[in-house]
Amino acid sequence: MVSFFTDQAFVTLATNDSYARGAMVLGKSLRKHNTSKKLVALVGPQVSEPCQSVLKRLYDEVRVVDVLDSGDTAHLAMMKRPDLGVTFTKLHCWTLTHYSKCVFMDADTMVLSNIDELFDKEELSAAPDPGWPDCFNSGVFVFRPSVETHGKLLQYCTEHGSFDGGDQGVLNGFFSNWATSDISKHLPFIYNLSSIAIYTYLPAFKYGGNAKVVHFLGKTKPWGYTFDPKAKQISGSEQDATTHSTFLLDWWTLYSGDVVPMLQEQYGDQPFH
Ligand code: UDP
Ligand code: MN
Repeated sequence: MVSFFTDQAFVTLATNDSYARGAMVLGKSLRKHNTSKKLVALVGPQVSEPCQSVLKRLYDEVRVVDVLDSGDTAHLAMMKRPDLGVTFTKLHCWTLTHYSKCVFMDADTMVLSNIDELFDKEELSAAPDPGWPDCFNSGVFVFRPSVETHGKLLQYCTEHGSFDGGDQGVLNGFFSNWATSDISKHLPFIYNLSSIAIYTYLPAFKYGGNAKVVHFLGKTKPWGYTFDPKAKQISGSEQDATTHSTFLLDWWTLYSGDVVPMLQEQYGDQPFH
């Protein structure tokens, strides 16, 4: 896997095997679109060996983060706010100080074209949240690793908590001037397009819908559906297959075509799903 020297990286997080599958598809999609940046996956200790092995083939760096084990301020913060477990793990991305700039991407995102130009943006750049556009969506954001910022974020978290119980609440609380201070930190919506938005404003999607990143936010994640690779059809929790975006099909095409063979190699004869 050729990556030219760079101190910039895409970073994702998976605390379990389900999200790890998302991270595999994300990693594969970034490679397919020839990113010149490094790829880093933060994984929780629960992620199985076979999944970690596949991630290691797709990512330059797979780092196991166990906030509970860390014995530092992150651990202390976690003891005070055990409800924010995954959030603290996500904030760990600020400790990747061997990179000067990073783009965090949720494991339920997938890129549709090369997005290396995001590294021209500054901390904290992100796209508006489709449900409340004065907040940014924390599924895709540009940041600068810094031990100092990490410490301040943890402190903010323990003192103020998260207004939505997750990382998006914490980050919007901490970077609270995002909405008003600097328009260059507002990423175009096409860098974090949620399928929800497509259905609420279909004409806009057709008008400006040159999507670069799709984000499967919400309850049902792509891996929660089942897919018939021969018929190229999705089935699953919702009955009406026509309500599924073509992006879901794109996710499954990448997953079944490129990721499943790698998983099969790792699992051998043992079944996985
Ligand atoms: N995540 C994880 N394990 C979890 C929940 C979340 O690793 O049990 C990570 C993963 O990278 C995920 C991100 O945190 O994409 C944010 O959560 P999610 O995407 O489920 O939230 P949504 O985008 O639907 O609000
Ligand atoms: Mn997400």
